[in-house]
Amino acid sequence: MSSIIQLLPDHVANQIAAGEVVQRPASVVKELLENAVDAGATDIKLIIKDAGKSLVQVIDNGKGMSVTDARLCFERHATSKIRQAEDLFSLCTKGFRGEALASIAAIAHMEMKTRQDQDELGTHIVIEGSKFISQEVAVLPKGTSFAVKNLFFNIPARRNFLKSDTVEFRHVMDEFQRVALAHPNIHFTFYHNGSEMYNLPAAGYRQRIVGIMSGKTNEKLVPVNEDTEIINVQGFVCKPEFAKKSRGEQFFFVNDRFIKSGYLHHAVMAAYEGLLKDGSQPSYFLYLQVPPNTIDINIHPTKTEIKFDDEQALYAILRAAIKHSLGQFNVAPVLDFDRDSNLDTPYHYKDLEAETPTIEVDGNFNPFTDDKTNQHYSKANSGSGYSSGSSSSSGSSYSGYSKRVEPTASWESLYVGLDLDNAESIESSPFTFENEEVTSSLFNDDEIEQAGQKTYQIHKKYIVSPIKSGMVIVDQQRAHQRILYEQFLLNMTVNQASSQQLLFPLNLFYSSDEMSLIEELKPSLETTGFVFEKAQTDHIVISGIPVNITESEVSLVIEQLLSDLQEGIPASSYSQNDTIAKSMAKSLAVKTGSYLTEKEQDNLVNALFACKDPNISPFQKPTFITLRVEDIDKKFAL
Ligand code: ADP
Ligand code: MG
Repeated sequence: MSSIIQLLPDHVANQIAAGEVVQRPASVVKELLENAVDAGATDIKLIIKDAGKSLVQVIDNGKGMSVTDARLCFERHATSKIRQAEDLFSLCTKGFRGEALASIAAIAHMEMKTRQDQDELGTHIVIEGSKFISQEVAVLPKGTSFAVKNLFFNIPARRNFLKSDTVEFRHVMDEFQRVALAHPNIHFTFYHNGSEMYNLPAAGYRQRIVGIMSGKTNEKLVPVNEDTEIINVQGFVCKPEFAKKSRGEQFFFVNDRFIKSGYLHHAVMAAYEGLLKDGSQPSYFLYLQVPPNTIDINIHPTKTEIKFDDEQALYAILRAAIKHSLGQFNVAPVLDFDRDSNLDTPYHYKDLEAETPTIEVDGNFNPFTDDKTNQHYSKANSGSGYSSGSSSSSGSSYSGYSKRVEPTASWESLYVGLDLDNAESIESSPFTFENEEVTSSLFNDDEIEQAGQKTYQIHKKYIVSPIKSGMVIVDQQRAHQRILYEQFLLNMTVNQASSQQLLFPLNLFYSSDEMSLIEELKPSLETTGFVFEKAQTDHIVISGIPVNITESEVSLVIEQLLSDLQEGIPASSYSQNDTIAKSMAKSLAVKTGSYLTEKEQDNLVNALFACKDPNISPFQKPTFITLRVEDIDKKFAL
């Protein structure tokens, strides 16, 4: 029988190995940055184009390579970092497999320039798809530069598999941040398509964290320090009141390597027990040092997961250390989530000086004219920050389901941050409803009419309303989601949404990748009624917001959006609008557990049945059920 087994040629083996090492431009960024760190560089530049799809370049001032090494480094299993299996247990470097450069060279056009300090001349190598194109002696600065162009040029399937530039860029950003956070003592610069994303001088941990995250991060951080025989923990956790909805800023570094660990995350969350609102996530930046022989970093191909010898002890130490820090910095005792949030000074107001109130008298005001008082009011106030006519446009366009009557809105722009929706008065109820356009397509026209529109709220969750044929039970949260969703979609696609101008523009701080996401969303957000002023590098300035949200809800809405769009912004503007409308509906809808006045219940039910698609929530869940009298009769017949 003839033999059929053959050894694969090197370039094929390399291409296969590349599949494991290089999934996307961000993988190249990670490998090259880590090599530069391992080379002892104190200055590392990352330059990318088109989210890394057309260029990833890393320039370092590290130890460089000799002529022989410069050639050898592209061979598979060629590494200077381990020599024998035992070395795996005393690793102090990021790399050790000797696969990265061989893999990248197999699937891209690559150019390397390198010179060691002691050599006068350096080496310049060009390699494409594992083929050496040229090798020259050249005058070069000390250190190494790798440029990787046209990733996956020879594997179209992989190239087509890459996501949009936004998504790929976020991955690159993630990798950059992880390496830069792990090594604050190295000066990093990062350019994307010619613009500087980061310039981070060598610093300590705190400064580096603040440099990478937004400018407001500093005041949110609480230091953590614990030194024991089996572990040294340093770093920062964020004060509970700054916890976020999304899990963005959570970092563990073990021996200067970013890792993921569900178990250690649990330890951190346990330390915050009782301090966080449901579902919110604290930011943390924790640097753990353990003896290299007590961990196994080898269990995951891309090396973000590691195995510890004594996980349980680490858990306990970490939890205790964080608990201690939160307590010591007086974070824990001042927290009381039951207090009325209306009594808090809105955050951005804390540092503002008080202004003396002025009274504007409208000399032309005559209460006995035919003019509707609120119209008059709105004219008199048109200069005071509320765009006049907004309630009429949103009111008529959407069956009168306008959350505000004009006087309330004007008052609100003066008392920004106070939650007027909770006020007793019916006038300021969030559900102001005009009857004329409400027609229910689901029930006979006279059904609701005849039942006298009585509604009851049960368990702060459902609204029960009798109808002629029996009763309808509405899920308040889902129903409101549907109402808001249709309202936002309509505003975005059909109407020019109106906005209420804010008396003081709102400054909201975000990390730079969040900023780039917001930048991309701006046009869609503007169609909902947001008005942005010129963006700064680390914060946005909002001068107008949609009429149907309050100022205090803005940051919540944007945070929810960012967390909903973590996987990238949909390509078509239709699905972009759809996603935004869904996300805003999710964050603004009344929640299960909220008490609704009878009037609010009534309005909610009516507005639901005025929707185009009242049966299901935007998230495809039923919004209500009906129980017919016969169904009830049947139950009694048992
Ligand atoms: P590994 O990092 O696992 O050793 P790589 O394929 O990433 O494998 O790199 C192979 C070798 O090339 C490294 O062990 C190192 O000796 C050398 N090398 C790679 N990048 C650099 C650099 N920026 N400066 C100096 N030497 C480098
Ligand atoms: Mg490496």
